[in-house]
Amino acid sequence: MYLLRGFFCDPLCTAITHQRRIFSDPVTARIKQGFYMSVATPVAAQGFCDLGLPDTIMATLDRLGYVEPSPIQAQAIPPLLAGQDVLGQAQTGTGKTAAFALPLLARLDPAQRHPQILVLTPTRELAGQVAESWQRYGAGIGGIKVACLYGGSSYVPQLKALSSGAQIVVGTPGRIIDHLNRGTLDTSRLQALVLDEADEMLRMGFIDDVQRIAEACPEQRQTALFSATMPPPIRRLTHRHLRNPVEITIATDHSVKALIRQRAAVVPFRNKTDALLRLLAMETYDGIIVFVATRVATNDVTQALLDHGYRAAQLSGDVAQRDREITVDRFIKGRVDILVATDVAARGLDVDRVSHVINYDLPNDLEQYTHRIGRTGRAGRSGEAISFAAPHQRHFLAAVERRSGSSIERWEIPSAKDVNNRRLERIGEQIVAASSKQQGLDGYRTLISDLIAAGNDPVELAACLAREIHGDAEPFHDRKGPIGKAPGKQLAGKGVSKAPPSGKRPSKGLGAHPGPSNGGRQLCQFSVGRRHGATPARMLAAIANASGLSGKAIGRIAIDQDHSTVDMPSDLPAGAWKALRKQRINGQPLV
Ligand code: AMP
Repeated sequence: MYLLRGFFCDPLCTAITHQRRIFSDPVTARIKQGFYMSVATPVAAQGFCDLGLPDTIMATLDRLGYVEPSPIQAQAIPPLLAGQDVLGQAQTGTGKTAAFALPLLARLDPAQRHPQILVLTPTRELAGQVAESWQRYGAGIGGIKVACLYGGSSYVPQLKALSSGAQIVVGTPGRIIDHLNRGTLDTSRLQALVLDEADEMLRMGFIDDVQRIAEACPEQRQTALFSATMPPPIRRLTHRHLRNPVEITIATDHSVKALIRQRAAVVPFRNKTDALLRLLAMETYDGIIVFVATRVATNDVTQALLDHGYRAAQLSGDVAQRDREITVDRFIKGRVDILVATDVAARGLDVDRVSHVINYDLPNDLEQYTHRIGRTGRAGRSGEAISFAAPHQRHFLAAVERRSGSSIERWEIPSAKDVNNRRLERIGEQIVAASSKQQGLDGYRTLISDLIAAGNDPVELAACLAREIHGDAEPFHDRKGPIGKAPGKQLAGKGVSKAPPSGKRPSKGLGAHPGPSNGGRQLCQFSVGRRHGATPARMLAAIANASGLSGKAIGRIAIDQDHSTVDMPSDLPAGAWKALRKQRINGQPLV
C-alpha cells in the first residue's frame, strides 16, 4: 500500500499574488503550492508521460493544461491501465475522476457500441460532473458516448443515449436499478465498474442497490472503488467485489489553517435564515460562501438573501457547468457577494476574496468541514468560518475541536436591537461616504431646498429618503415580526417551509397565513415545480390524496420553476407527512 500525505501549507508561506482560476485546475494549483507531499514516494516526480497513457489521451491532457498527475492519479493510473482492481481512499478535489477515467478510456474500444464502463455515484450532481469529465477526457478519442442516468428526470434522453451506443454509463444507483429492471441497460459486456464516493452511497442508503448492480455485472471485469473513508460495510463490499485490489491512500491533514477564526452557534433549524440575516448585518465581509445540505436549500436561502437585498447567487448541481462558471466569475469580480452552494457544486471553487465560510447546514464529517472552511483564509488573508449547529449537533463541534486541535468560539445570535443598531451605523457610514462625492448633486440641492422652503422638515425628508432606499429602520424583531418569525413545521431537511420575505410587504396570498403562529397555518415548500409538470390542480390532488385534507383546507398553491409553496394547516392529520413523502409528480418526489 502506498501512503501519500496531502496537507495544507501555511497560507502565509504560499501567498498567491495572482487570482486563481476556478473550476480549472486546483490540483495543479495545489501541486504547484506543494499542498500534496509524498511520504512514500515511488512516483513523486512522475509526469503523465511516465504513466503509459496513449498519445490521444496525452494530447487531451496537454490541451487541458494538466502537467503533473496528482498523487491519486500517479498511483491509480498504472494498475488500472494494467487491468488491475483499485481501492482508492481519497476525497473530492484530489483528481480522482481523471485517476479512473484516463486509464479506463485507454482500455475502451470506441468501435464497440455497447456499455463497457459503468460508474456509480451517490448524487445526480456528481453523476453530471463525472459524465462531463468523461466527455472532456475522451474528447480526443473519436466516437466516445456517455450516458448519464439519474433519478428525478425524464427517461427519454437517457434511453436515447443508451440506444445511441454509449460505451460509458454514469448514474445513481436507484436509476441504474430502474434501467436494469426495465431491461434498458445491458451490463452483460461491461469491462469495468467504478464505485465513486462509496461511503456517500452507503450513507445515503444505496448499499444494497450497489451490491445488486455489482452482481449484475460480469464476473470477469475490472473494479475500482473510491471512498473518502473506509467504514466496515465498504470494506465488506470491497472484499466481495474487488479482486486483489491495489490499495491507495491519500491521507489528509485535518489541521485548520491558523488564519481562520472559527465560530459556531446553536441554531434551531427554523431560525437559520434569521440567524444568517443577522450574521450578515453584523459582519464586515468581502465574499461569502454559504454551504447548505440540499439543492432545495440553495434555492431557498438564495431567495431569502435576494429578498433582503443581498447580491447572492446559488451554485447547485442543477445549474449547468457553463452557468456555474459564469456565476463564479461574477463572484470573483465582486458582482455577486454571497454564493449559496452545496458541497458537490462548490468542488474546485478556489477564490481569494472569500472572507467568510458559513456552514448553514453542518457538513457530514471533519474532512468536509476542513475542506469547506479552507475556502477562506487564502493567500495570507484572515478568514472567518461560522457554523450553525442544530441543538442535537453540538457534539459535532466538540469532535471537530478535538480532532483538529483547534478551538471554535461560541457565537451568540445577536439581539434584534444590536443588529438594527449596527445596520443603522453602516447606513450612516454609507451616507457620510456618499456626502464626500459632490458630483451630480446640483439638481437635488435645488429640489431639497425647494421642499424645505415649502415647509418640510429637513430631518424628516432625509429620514424618508433613507427609508425609501433601505427599508424600515428596524427590520429585525426578537419576538414577532417578519424576520425572527419561525417558519412552519419542517419537512426534516427535505422541503422547507418559508416565511414571506422579511422587510417587505407580504405578497398577496402568501401573507395571509405566514406560519403556525397565525391561525394554525404553515407555508410548506415542495420539491416539485413547473419544470416537473406541477400545476395547482395536480398539487391539490396529490396533497389532498396523501394527507387526507379536504381541498378547502389547502390554501394558496404557488408554483415556481423548481418548487411549489402551499399554504396548509399546521396540524396535519397523523401520518400525513409520511404519506406526502411517497407522493410523486412525473416521478419527482413531492418532498
Ligand atoms: P476531481 O477530484 O476528480 O473532482 O478533480 C478536481 C479538479 O481537478 C477538476 O476540476 C479537474 O479538472 C482538476 N484536475 C484533475 N487532475 C488534474 C491534474 N493532473 N492537473 C490539473 N488539474 C487537474
